[in-house]
This record gives sequence, structure tokens and C-alpha cells, in this order.
Amino acid sequence: MASVMDQPALHILSLYHRDMNIYGDSGNILSVTRRAELYGFRPVVHYYNPGDPWPDQVDLILGGGGQDHGQERIIQDLHRRGPLLGNLAEQGVPMLMICGLYQLFGHYFETSDHERLEGIGILDVHTVARSDRMIGNLVEQSPDFGQVVGYENHSGLTYLGEGAQPLGTVNQEGRGNNGRDHTEGARRKKVIGTYMHGSLLPKNPAIADFLIGAAADRRYGQDTLKRMRQSMDQANRQELGRLDSLAGQASRIAASRPR
Ligand code: GLN
Repeated sequence: MASVMDQPALHILSLYHRDMNIYGDSGNILSVTRRAELYGFRPVVHYYNPGDPWPDQVDLILGGGGQDHGQERIIQDLHRRGPLLGNLAEQGVPMLMICGLYQLFGHYFETSDHERLEGIGILDVHTVARSDRMIGNLVEQSPDFGQVVGYENHSGLTYLGEGAQPLGTVNQEGRGNNGRDHTEGARRKKVIGTYMHGSLLPKNPAIADFLIGAAADRRYGQDTLKRMRQSMDQANRQELGRLDSLAGQASRIAASRPR
């Protein structure tokens, strides 16, 4: 009989799980692992914290947000792991970095005390804190993912350099990367940085599938996710349909709520 161990493994790393994981960000891990299981993968989650050994296999990296002091706790280890993460990004490993880690995947984050936390420069962005915060549900239009709905809560204003494209555009001022230029998030290769907490992936399955697909295709060959989706059994197909319909409901409700 086929056992679960015969299924292709997908190794997912939750980057700085203890310190960088707020406003529901751990829901991204749940969403990716559940969908990967339904497609027939065997997801393996590694919870990485400062000082931990790096797993032998890493196919997808998820990182969340954190307050400034959380960012300070992980910064040294992030600098140590920066070259490795940069290499993996270059090789096309998919990564999703929310808020606090989005900022530190850029060139720097200058805190409200004018302290500069140097980032690892994977994304061509920089961030400067201001005294008030941008808080609330957020809707953006993304060229690749359509409408994306999440929740932002940050004081940092992020500016994109020429090497970064935004994840999407917001239509109202006071939101997104910096409240002015209508951009939200940043992309490079298969790396996505965004301010969207909430959790992001349960409400936006297109992004979850982009990450799973990029991880699977890199590890097991082109169109792996497509093939696995085609050979899903009826029960898993139904469960996926149920998740997608819940995602639609959740994002509609979040989008209609006042900030
Ligand atoms: N400290 C950062 C800011 O407020 C990140 C906050 C977060 O991750 N939600 O801009």
C-alpha cells in the first residue's frame, strides 16, 4: 500500500518563528501545508529561530512580522544567514516575507529612534519609520494575483528602488508601502515582500499556490503542481473547493470592514 512517505516532500521553513510572527502570520504555514497535502505532497515544516541549524532541504520560506524589538532580536542571525538567503533567492526559492521581515529583506529599516537596522538587500527597498501607524484592512490589485486582501499595521514607510516591482497597487492614500505612491509590497524573482498580515494566504489562495507551485517545480520539475492538481482525488478536490470558497468569503468580509 502506498504510504504518506512515498509522497514528494516539500520542506517549508518558518523564518524566525518565535520573534517574527504576529497578526495571524502563522496562518500562512497552515494554509500552505494544508493545500500542499491536498495536492498530494508531504509538507515538512521547520521552525527556525536564531542560532538553529539550517535544515538540509528548504523548498519554501515563510517569514512574518514583528515589532521593532523582535526585529532587533533576530537581526544578528539574519545578517549571518543573509548570504545563504540571498543565494536561495537567486536560485528561485519562493519566499514570502511579511512586514517586519519584508523591511529587513530590504536595504535598511530606520526606526523612530533613528537607529538603522541594516537589512540583507534581497529586495531593492528601504524603510523609514514615522510616528503614526498605518493600520487596517487593505485591498490591492496585483497584476499576477488579482485582488489581494490583507491587514496592515506598521509605522515604517517603504520605498521601492528600481530593482523591485510592487506586489500590487492600492487606490487610496495612507495605505500600502508608504501611503503616497499607491504601491504595496515588492517582488523579485520568487520572493514576495508585503505588509499584508491577516493571515494573507488563507484569504488569498492564488499566492499560496504560486509559492507551492514554485517550490514544487523547482524541486521536482516543471509543471509538477499542475500534474498533481490534475490527479487529485474527488475528496481532496472537494476539500480544496471548500477552502477556496471560505477564502472568497473571508476576503470579501475583510475588504468590506472599516479601517
Ligand atoms: N516594526 C515595523 C513597523 O512598525 C514592523 C511592524 C510589523 O511587522 N507589523 O513598521
